[in-house]
Amino acid sequence: MKILLFGRNGQVGWELQRSLAPLGEVVALDSGSGEFCGNFSNLEGIAQTVRRVAPTIIVNAAAYTAVDKAENDIELARTVNALAPALLAQEAKQCGAWLIHYSTDYVFDGSGTDSWQETDATGPLSVYGKTKLEGDVAIIESGCKYLIFRTSWVYAARGGNFAKTMLRLAQERDQLNVINDQFGAPTGAELLADVTAHCIQQALRQPEVCGLYHAAADGVTSWYDYAAFVIEFARQTGIDIKVGQGALKPIPASAYPLPAPRPGNSRLDTHKLQTTFNLTLPKWQSGVLRMLTEIIERK
Ligand code: NDP
Repeated sequence: MKILLFGRNGQVGWELQRSLAPLGEVVALDSGSGEFCGNFSNLEGIAQTVRRVAPTIIVNAAAYTAVDKAENDIELARTVNALAPALLAQEAKQCGAWLIHYSTDYVFDGSGTDSWQETDATGPLSVYGKTKLEGDVAIIESGCKYLIFRTSWVYAARGGNFAKTMLRLAQERDQLNVINDQFGAPTGAELLADVTAHCIQQALRQPEVCGLYHAAADGVTSWYDYAAFVIEFARQTGIDIKVGQGALKPIPASAYPLPAPRPGNSRLDTHKLQTTFNLTLPKWQSGVLRMLTEIIERK
């Protein structure tokens, strides 16, 4: 079986290279040049790639994820997040392939405190959220076989992430201000990649599972509590933390304005994913602890 993976060097794409490998031959592409075009700015090149590879499964982990930059780079964000996924869906339909795609909590307006369900009304606040939603809708309306995993607060051990930044700042500064009125579940790229591989296997046996699923680690936290969790772990591990007890200050998002508004409520209800695919999603703390342990042991 051939699997065509786009965005191989991203957080999720990198982990997918690992998790998809046992399923078949993975043709993994990035936006750079090579034997096949993996650059979403070149839609004709992407169509040619799908036709030449003739995959059973297309996995799209590529996206324009620079949320603030997207506010002033609308055309490219739309090409990568909406037009390219729409094209992949058309090509998938033509060759009978599955399309696996990732969506975001940013498609919601972030109101309320309930967990968002797949059927809830969307209302993106940012260019990133709008363009991602346009991509989701195009895939759903294309008539191809698809799985869309809508996730939140993705982190990976590789590259930078919120936990690593907090760990560094806590060693450098006496005081830290962290947003305390945005809620979600930090979700490991590793977990998403494993869930993807599991679901693909079931989808190949049961095509009726085609659909949109919320996929995030279990539980909920704020950025502030997430930071406190990371710093407390580091302290217990014996790392020299400069931020004193009580010097981690909760602040509202309004005190830290950014070009792209973020949803306050990013809680995702994952019941549909867990029951359809017979999965248990672990608590967000377990993946974060694992990542922190790896970072600290490597030092
Ligand atoms: P990353 O930002 O880590 O990776 C994105 C990938 O997209 C990069 O490898 C990049 O490749 C690629 N890419 C960007 N522009 C282009 C382009 N023009 N052509 C081809 N590839 C391109 O993203 P994540 O792994 O974190 O995200 C994976 C998915 O999860 C995305 O769909 C994202 O929207 C979604 N998501 C992410 C969240 C998060 O917190 N990060 C939260 C919710 C959903 P290159 O470097 O080669 O340009």
